[in-house]
Formats: sequence, C-alpha cells, structure tokens
Amino acid sequence: MAEDTRVALVSGGSRGIGRACVARLAADGFDVAFSYRSDSEAAQQLVKELDGARVSATRVDVTDAAAVTAWVADVERNFGPIHAVVTSAGITADGGFATMSAQRWGDVLRTNLDGTFHVCRAATFGMMKRKCGSIVTLSSVSGVHGNPGQANYSAAKAGIIGMTRALAKEVGRYGLRANVVAPGLIATDMTAGLSEQVRARMIERIALRRAGTGEEVADLVSYLSSGRASYVTGAVFEIDGGIGA
Ligand code: NDP
Repeated sequence: MAEDTRVALVSGGSRGIGRACVARLAADGFDVAFSYRSDSEAAQQLVKELDGARVSATRVDVTDAAAVTAWVADVERNFGPIHAVVTSAGITADGGFATMSAQRWGDVLRTNLDGTFHVCRAATFGMMKRKCGSIVTLSSVSGVHGNPGQANYSAAKAGIIGMTRALAKEVGRYGLRANVVAPGLIATDMTAGLSEQVRARMIERIALRRAGTGEEVADLVSYLSSGRASYVTGAVFEIDGGIGA
C-alpha cells in the first residue's frame, strides 16, 4: 500500500500543538481521528471548524491502555488503515526535585511516556502488516537537555526519545518510520500560565527572541508524516527558535 494513503491518528488533538497538527494534516488531505482527555467543547469546536474534512474526536485518556487500544481499533474500523500517528497528549506538573511528590512524578510519566507508548503500540502492528506508515512523537527540549523544575517531565520526554529511536530500528525493515519532534517554548495553554518574568527569561535564551506557534510545529509534523520524509527515521528534530544553541 502506498504511503500517501491518508488516515492520521493524533492523541491530544483538541488543543495546542495537537490541534494545529489535526488542522494541518486535514489540510494535507488526511482523514484525521484525534483524542482528548476532558475538554469536549474544544474538541467539538475543532471538528466544527474543520467542516468539510473527515475528522473525528474521541474522549480517550492515553494512560488507559485498554481504552487506547479500543479507540485505535474503532478508528481502523470506521476510517480505514492508519498511516500517520502523532502523539501530542501531554501534561506538566513542575516542582523542585528534592520535594517532588510521587504523585507529580507518576502523573507526568504516565501521561507523557506511558500514554505515548500505549498509542504507538496500538497502531504499530497494523502499520507493520501494511509495510508503511509514519509515527511522530512529541518530546521536548526538556527531554534533550533537562530543565530545572521539570525532572519528571524531562525524564518522560527523554524516555520518549529512547522509545521512538528503538521503535524506528525495530520497524524500519517493515517500511515504517518513527521520528521525534522536540519543541522549545511554544505558545499554547500549557505555557500560558508562566509568569511574565519566567517567560521573559526564557525568551532571552531563544536566538529568535520569541515563542513558537503550534502551526510552526505542525509544519514539521506534516513533513515527517508525508512521503517527502521517506528516508527520515529515528531522528530527533529540535524546533526551538535556537534555545539549545
Ligand atoms: P496543551 O496543554 O495545549 O494540550 C494538551 C492536549 O493533550 C489537550 O488536547 C489535552 O486534552 C490532551 N491531553 C492531556 N492529557 C491527556 C490524557 N491523559 N489523555 C488524552 N489526552 C490528554 O499542550 P501543548 O499543545 O502545549 O503540548 C502538546 C505536546 O507538546 C505535549 O506532549 C507537550 O509536552 C509537548 N510540548 C509542548 C511545548 C510547549 O511549549 N507548549 C514544548 C515542548 C513540548 P484536554 O484538553 O481534553 O485535557
């Protein structure tokens, strides 16, 4: 089956980067099935905005492996075989390392790392059988470099890089590609709560002196999900306006 057959699965697609990815993949011609955790209003609003495209929104908590498996099976039944997967569902629960509670550690690991594993695992076997497809996982510059106050998030996002690279090596022989996108500061709800002081300090460290947009990340995800990236796998793309530079 050709890689340009068009069904995309996006976890955490109702807001922020995931939302921009849903809109971009739909504009690229994919039928898009996306999930969210709780904000049905945002999800339904997006479906409405993309009127004309084939888009579905399903409430699925990515920490629930059985629910994720059922969702993926349902999408394959109703939309057809999945060819592009984007895992954007994620949360932060920042705090100092020495006083970090087991709860904060576990919540962030379960949503970001276990959730990414659940979504990728549920979709991988079908793509292996069909011998094509693309997986894009959302990590973070925190996972690449580590970030103070984010030991839990940095660990989860570093884990996503290891998982995705291992997956790429395992499934490459089946024509399936897996890549990581590691954004820096992107203007979404996740970063809206930062104080002006913290934001100003972060922007001072960014070569381009501004936060990125979900659309800029979605543009990279669009490329990686397309046949244009047919020889790109196991790679980590930092999209951070030069924060690591
Ligand atoms: P947002 O907070 O704006 O959106 C998060 C999305 O994930 C929402 O759709 C939310 O659904 C969904 N979600 C959260 N938890 C779960 C869950 N347990 N199950 C299913 N869906 C869930 O985040 P961003 O768009 O900013 O971030 C997207 C991804 O990019 C994340 O993985 C994040 O870690 C990563 N990232 C973000 C950066 C940034 O600066 N914004 C920087 C680097 C990486 P609902 O609204 O229903 O809760």
